Amino acid sequence: MADRRLAKVIGNLFSPSGSRARLAVFCYHQVLISPDEFRAGEPTSVEFSQDVEFIDDVFTVLPFGEAVTRLRSNNLPKRAACISFDDGYQNNHSLAAPILEKAGVPATFFIAGGAVDEGVMWNDLVIEAIASSGGAPKIDDDYDFLQLPNSATEKSEIVAALLRQLKYRPMTDRWEIACRLYRDNVGSDLPRLMMTREMVNDLSARGFEIGGHTINHPILKELSEEEARNEIIGCRDWVQSVTGSMPTSFAYPNGRTGVDFDDRHLQMVADAGFGTAANTDWGLAKGQTSPYSIPRIGPWWRQGRNLETGLLRSYVRSYL
Ligand SMILES: [Zn+2]
Repeated sequence: MADRRLAKVIGNLFSPSGSRARLAVFCYHQVLISPDEFRAGEPTSVEFSQDVEFIDDVFTVLPFGEAVTRLRSNNLPKRAACISFDDGYQNNHSLAAPILEKAGVPATFFIAGGAVDEGVMWNDLVIEAIASSGGAPKIDDDYDFLQLPNSATEKSEIVAALLRQLKYRPMTDRWEIACRLYRDNVGSDLPRLMMTREMVNDLSARGFEIGGHTINHPILKELSEEEARNEIIGCRDWVQSVTGSMPTSFAYPNGRTGVDFDDRHLQMVADAGFGTAANTDWGLAKGQTSPYSIPRIGPWWRQGRNLETGLLRSYVRSYL
């Protein structure tokens, strides 16, 4: 794969131990059995094994909560990193966890409790509805507010357009629309794509860190302050009731600073007793980074970008 020696040299230069340490938090959602055109960014289990092998070789991998605590006290080892998963997909339990365990690598799973209890997230209902439709997908006339590409468009583009437009609609709306799309194109029994509570507890029992990711995966900025607080406190209590331990780490749904959440939500997360929170801004954390605004990076080498160049660019940017 990549030149790991060069990656280590870059890491040693820009991410030494102590006060100049940088923390690279890799953000994943799913691990797939085989490639899926509707989930193009997600690795297969073969690709994820390669990622873990590379990350484990080049970095010192720590659980997210511990890594941020050590970052704050200038006590990170050189080339520190974390592996995180958002949402709570069943394949985290069936495919990702065994790969991580085999390599002896820790990871943190941020769980949207309501999605686990429901069994599926709204966006996956949309994907499954369009992907499984025989010919052109059936989209009810009631939804004429949706701007869709014409019917000759690739299904993956229709999915992308639907997800883009539904993401910022009120939670109950987007859930109802997704259910109806699924019912009209597939059937009435919703699939289970998320872990069960037992699986989440099993990951915890096997030593993986479980963090909060709200209950219903809303865009926090679209909610009233009371609703946002309930989502944050609710997932803290959910994780505690499922695993028996209070979570210390949180991840903001969708996660873009200023777009999906703002300073009010940082404060709510702190008030709820979490010690740290991850967003989805691209970058590396350093000592001065707020523990409630920890940026992350994705496995950019899967998007055709050079591994060492991407690593160098991320480290250099953290010094600008
Ligand atoms: Zn999420």
